Amino acid sequence: MVLSSDASIGMISDMNNNEDNLQPQSGNTNLWAPWRIEYIQSLTGDDGCFLCQYRDEPDKDSENLLLWRGENCLAVMNRFPYTGGHMLVAPMAHVAGLEDLSGPVMCEMMEMARDLQVLLKQTISPHGFNVGMNIGRCAGAGLPGHLHLHIVPRWNGDTNFMSALGDIRVIPQALSQLYEHLKTNSAKLELPKLS
Ligand SMILES: [Zn+2]
Repeated sequence: MVLSSDASIGMISDMNNNEDNLQPQSGNTNLWAPWRIEYIQSLTGDDGCFLCQYRDEPDKDSENLLLWRGENCLAVMNRFPYTGGHMLVAPMAHVAGLEDLSGPVMCEMMEMARDLQVLLKQTISPHGFNVGMNIGRCAGAGLPGHLHLHIVPRWNGDTNFMSALGDIRVIPQALSQLYEHLKTNSAKLELPKLS
């Protein structure tokens, strides 16, 4: 299984169930994330919702790479990122659709997305971002029961020959190291600024 997204239209894919897409196709601009197989397979065991698990383990935020807890939402690093600094913002509640969210929860999600961009710009200087949601498994959601917003930093040329031809991506900074940088800069910038 190869996991892909079409960067040309800005969509982020959690997983792609189409077995026809087992191999990279030449000439595409997809982000390939073969290491995410481990993540996808991990979702089939036990209760399967790592967001609820992280929410319920406040003493393990550092271990879980959970950066921010708001009143209604949390922000966590994606453990199986498309690019360095790939973050997820999710409501505290285990809900699947936008229609399940109240105004204040949606507002807090977007405030966290906004502040994550500020923080990521300060910390790892991306050239752009993909921000988006996959709702439902057919739309690419790897965790369809718990809505989440992807914030994916992008750099010019980040879908380079390594990912397009070698089925490899280079994540240049260890997750825990980046987490510590984000924590430090977050405190300096007094983020998140939630209303
Ligand atoms: Zn959940």
